[in-house]
Amino acid sequence: MTNRAFIMIAALILFSGCKKEVKSDNPFFNKWETPFEVPPFEKIKTVHYMPAYLKGFEEQKSEIKEIITNPDEPTFDNTIKALEYSGELLTKVSRVFGGLNSANTNDSLQAISMEVAPLMSKHRDDISLNDSLFQRVKSVFENMDKFTLTGEEKKVLDDTYKSFIRNGAALSSEGKEKLRKINEDLSILSVQFGQNLLAETNGYKLIIDNEEDLSGLPDGVIKQAAAMGKSFNMEGKWIFTIQVPSMTPFLQYSDRRDLREKLFTAYFMKGDNDNEYDNKVIISRMARLRTERSRLLGYDSYADFVLERNMAKTPERVFDFLEQVWDAALPVAKAEAAAQQEIIKREGGKFRLEPWDWWYYTEKIKKEKFDLDDEITRPYFKVDNVMEGMFCVANRLYNLDFTKRSDIPKYHPDVETFEVTREGKHIGILMIDNYPRQSKRGGAWCGAYRGQHRDITGKMITPVVTMVTNSTPPTADKPSLLTAGEAETLFHEFGHALHQLLSNCTYPGVSGTSVPRDFVELPSQIMEHWVLEPEVLKEYAKHYQTGEVMPTEIVEKLDKAGKFNTGFATTEFLAAALLDMEYHSLTEPADLEIREFEKKAMDKWGLIPEIKPRYRSTYFNHIWASGYAAGYYSYYWSEMLDADAFQAFKETGDIFNREIASKFEKEILSRGGTRDPLEMYIAFRGKEPGIYALLINRGLK
Ligand SMILES: [Zn+2]
Repeated sequence: MTNRAFIMIAALILFSGCKKEVKSDNPFFNKWETPFEVPPFEKIKTVHYMPAYLKGFEEQKSEIKEIITNPDEPTFDNTIKALEYSGELLTKVSRVFGGLNSANTNDSLQAISMEVAPLMSKHRDDISLNDSLFQRVKSVFENMDKFTLTGEEKKVLDDTYKSFIRNGAALSSEGKEKLRKINEDLSILSVQFGQNLLAETNGYKLIIDNEEDLSGLPDGVIKQAAAMGKSFNMEGKWIFTIQVPSMTPFLQYSDRRDLREKLFTAYFMKGDNDNEYDNKVIISRMARLRTERSRLLGYDSYADFVLERNMAKTPERVFDFLEQVWDAALPVAKAEAAAQQEIIKREGGKFRLEPWDWWYYTEKIKKEKFDLDDEITRPYFKVDNVMEGMFCVANRLYNLDFTKRSDIPKYHPDVETFEVTREGKHIGILMIDNYPRQSKRGGAWCGAYRGQHRDITGKMITPVVTMVTNSTPPTADKPSLLTAGEAETLFHEFGHALHQLLSNCTYPGVSGTSVPRDFVELPSQIMEHWVLEPEVLKEYAKHYQTGEVMPTEIVEKLDKAGKFNTGFATTEFLAAALLDMEYHSLTEPADLEIREFEKKAMDKWGLIPEIKPRYRSTYFNHIWASGYAAGYYSYYWSEMLDADAFQAFKETGDIFNREIASKFEKEILSRGGTRDPLEMYIAFRGKEPGIYALLINRGLK
């Protein structure tokens, strides 16, 4: 009898009325008796995490011990499956902690994350560097043909075996020790990077106390800044921060060039101020350690190591792909800069266009060309209406229904919770958390407090999904009114949510969004194609006061403006993607001088001085603290896929074509990482993707 089966029988006894069960004070040790077993957020206190983590480590350790001491020959079930289902408590606590530490953190949670990071890294190493375990995995892998396995099981086996190799299982004991030390150092450095970045972001405020300094700013933006002043106990003053929703409107509209420079400089110098929160030494050490780690494992560079398991496979293919798009985008960006310089000249300005001018003059050109700005469209993008719109799209494509629930625990009053059903059948839970606050990190993301899978008895476990954004918040007299870009972000994260919700896999490790980085943005980015489609706008873009549907004239302008400024958008993105690849294709460990490295890398590609990379090194959270190292290119790689995939709908003349949607669900959304991504794509589309649809989509061709 396996340990797992024994535990199950014990659990059955407890359920059939055994009085010996003592409920713990720690919610992580109990079955959650909330609706849909959503985490009981209000019962989970800071003190509960560490004991749950420690017990989680212990439990998984004993499960592993059970696997390696099994006297039977290694089989898929007694080794791979047993491993796949181990560590349930650890997953339970990690998902809750990880979710809250990003969306609603505080000093205590941050302290715990510093404490847990090295323990987690050690625990993972204890598993992946366990030789007895590796020998069993290797035996199953080498004897694969002896077992009757499903396609999904073969993929799980392949992933597991490769993951052992990639984590150092085949190294000498000396090599393993070295690897452990590197992993531990990297995990701590990455947490420090994120904490410095949060401190730097929260540490800067542009405080305006003279009304004249608000020149050019629209009313809504001024009110937003006044509300911000109030929230910082500075009533009567206007505050702008370097959080994107606060900063961008200022850069777009403020006539005060000096203040734009001040605010934007604070933004792009984050982590580069030679103060206690400086990130330069941290990232230099991280780049060095990553190169060392890759060399130790037998790869030329960190990029070689990462890309092997991605759809792109090699650094050469990534550079080649980025170069093709870069060559198409840079001339367009240069022409955009020239057009702005022309306006400066026309207005009698005697200065050269600088990065903090870009948004301002772009806005002017946009206004001239399209007579359109964010303030014209905002009233039609009330957050509730935009969510209504994305629910409507999901209904027409996948027949899903979304019902708001108020009886489900939430971790913050801003969270809105929906039950997702199909023909009355429960599919999962979706939480949406939209507004910025000090306790939330910047950006937008989607995660799951519980991932879809089938438990060891084969019972379907439905997902609890969370979408977090930093959208324009409501004010005293206005609801949350989004920019078109923010509406697009909501649709994007919703696409990730659908990938989680429609997942129909067995093993937890390959379900939901467990796909390579350069494939994971396909389900999210394809949703962006629907957000501004005239047919979709008609459904949801209604004026928040009058209920009037967005006038056709604005819809047409939005359509035309969609391809506006794409030279800039593409170039600033690619600059960051190239910077990421430059750091991670280093083949020799070196101590880098970060400012110099960044400048050289950007000069090499010919980035123009009017544009900064979308993320400079010292605040490039994606690559230093969030798993996108040698992977930032993925968004555009995925765009090649999503632009091409959306064509499949367009070609039929019906963007809600149910047949195509159901094929997309069957071959991609439901499959998680149970198949090779290229195979999945070809199964859906009937052919490999090309770059053409991407260039057309961006108006670069
Ligand atoms: Zn995404």
